[in-house]
Amino acid sequence: MDLREKRSESPAGQVRNVVKSCIEEKTNKDWIKDSGERKTDTENKKRCINAQTSQDRRRRVKKQTENKEKTIKRRRNEEEGQIEKESQAKKTSKDGRIERRRFEEGQIVKEKKGEKTSKDKKIKRRGIEEGQTEKESQAEKKTSKDARIKRRRVEEGPLQMESHADKKTSEHESYKNIQIDKENKKTTEENSKGTNIEQKEEKNKRLRSEDPLESGSIQKRPCLDIERPAPLDVNNYSFHSIVGRGGFGWVMLASFRPKKQLVAIKILTKESEKNDCHAIAKEARLLKISRECAFLCQSYAVFQSELEAFFVLEYASGKSLWKMISREGKLPTSRIRFYTAEMVVALQFLHSKGIIHRDLKPGNILIDKDGHIKICDFGMAEENIIGQRKTYGLAGTPGYRAPEILSFEDYNAGVDWWSFGVTMYKMATGVLPFSAAGSIQKQRLVIIMKPPTYPCDMNEEMLDLLPKLLEINETQRIGLNGNIREHAFYSTINWEDLENRRLETPFQPGMPSVDDFEEFPITFSRQSSSEKENLKDFSEVDPNWNWQE
Ligand code: ATP
Ligand code: MG
Repeated sequence: MDLREKRSESPAGQVRNVVKSCIEEKTNKDWIKDSGERKTDTENKKRCINAQTSQDRRRRVKKQTENKEKTIKRRRNEEEGQIEKESQAKKTSKDGRIERRRFEEGQIVKEKKGEKTSKDKKIKRRGIEEGQTEKESQAEKKTSKDARIKRRRVEEGPLQMESHADKKTSEHESYKNIQIDKENKKTTEENSKGTNIEQKEEKNKRLRSEDPLESGSIQKRPCLDIERPAPLDVNNYSFHSIVGRGGFGWVMLASFRPKKQLVAIKILTKESEKNDCHAIAKEARLLKISRECAFLCQSYAVFQSELEAFFVLEYASGKSLWKMISREGKLPTSRIRFYTAEMVVALQFLHSKGIIHRDLKPGNILIDKDGHIKICDFGMAEENIIGQRKTYGLAGTPGYRAPEILSFEDYNAGVDWWSFGVTMYKMATGVLPFSAAGSIQKQRLVIIMKPPTYPCDMNEEMLDLLPKLLEINETQRIGLNGNIREHAFYSTINWEDLENRRLETPFQPGMPSVDDFEEFPITFSRQSSSEKENLKDFSEVDPNWNWQE
């Protein structure tokens, strides 16, 4: 045994060894950093001298120190991680206290910024924060009432929300809290104004119509387990049969299970060759506007899955005018007058909103259960055609396209009045006024070279009106040039009564019962809450659809 080993084995040597190892531990900067736990050198020395009598005690002390170090390190990492997320501009500092203060300041700045943004966002953010606080304070009631801890927990709220593990729960809670927040706000307002049932109903409808997956801050935190309102969940619909297959998708007779209500659902495939997302979003937008006019197809809800877009529509049980013409041939004048008068109201409404339909034809004119018409299919419609503005591009169905479309000129709402004239002619005769065969060039030449023939038994006023609609020069075409409502063909129509659906309809198809239909086995792609897979601000429910009753 050499001298160094002998020294180390001696009681004094053992003391020296323990002191040395303690000093080494103390130099670890993480350990030093925590001021609450920091021991002075003297304290450490004292502790070490006491420990020298027992090897076990020394190991215990060492273990304790290691545990403390681990806790401190973990807490510091959490804080630093949060600070980095909250403020990238902040310089990193080794002083935990300064960092903490900076973090708090960052929070305040962030909240102030939030105040400047939209009111909705503010309410949502407050909902999240208040919800978090409420959640925290409930837990605290059970444990400690220490206000300092409480404050720290509130501050740590966002940190917890960032944590992946807690993300789902937080979002779920947040959504609930936003709703509670809105409810509370509304209730306060109601208390001051005086509550009535109608207001309550309105409030419920508004809440129902919001898609939690696509609103504000929640949208930015995708989560698969948030409950959708029932009308936005494809699983709440039964599918029965295909009622229409168009150029852009297909339409199915379906029923909304909770209400056993028959609906038509138009299903479009997202990003297919024909449907780009802009066109789908536009159709949804126009369907929403259509709710303001009784003679346009009403949509109850629109929602989407990963691959499909769904338009839940009022089921027009009377089918389309195309089917009626195919079944009956030419239609009686009184019926033509009634249906086309309702079409006039619908077209004038659309044009007043700067919308041109561009695909008016008997297949897109449906009859509802009461016998009124519903113009459907806004897949080709164009928006913002206001004042002198025009659009361009080939649109519509062969045989119904206006000559200015076929000449590739710019055009406006005049094209709808042309198609309206073709539709009226078809209703009156059972055939098209111009051949739809051949190339665009050929179709255009037919219109110019071969004026339509009118049957000799055609109603006189209609005979006067049709050439005015099928006028090649769109500036001279009735609809654009003069008010069609004033034409002699409609002299017997009380427009006010007609607009309010007070006129008796030619026939009432009625609504069949859901029980008359079997379920059609069909599945769709999963519903997703991913921003990447979803069209933005797409899903919504008509606030006037009483889907809960
Ligand atoms: P197209 O390209 O032929 O114009 P599309 O794919 O754009 O068709 P729609 O025109 O909206 O689709 O619908 C196709 C057919 O589905 C209609 O002609 C009609 O027969 C039926 N249909 C559409 N909506 C409804 C509805 N709400 N109720 C009943 N049937 C409907
Ligand atoms: Mg159509």
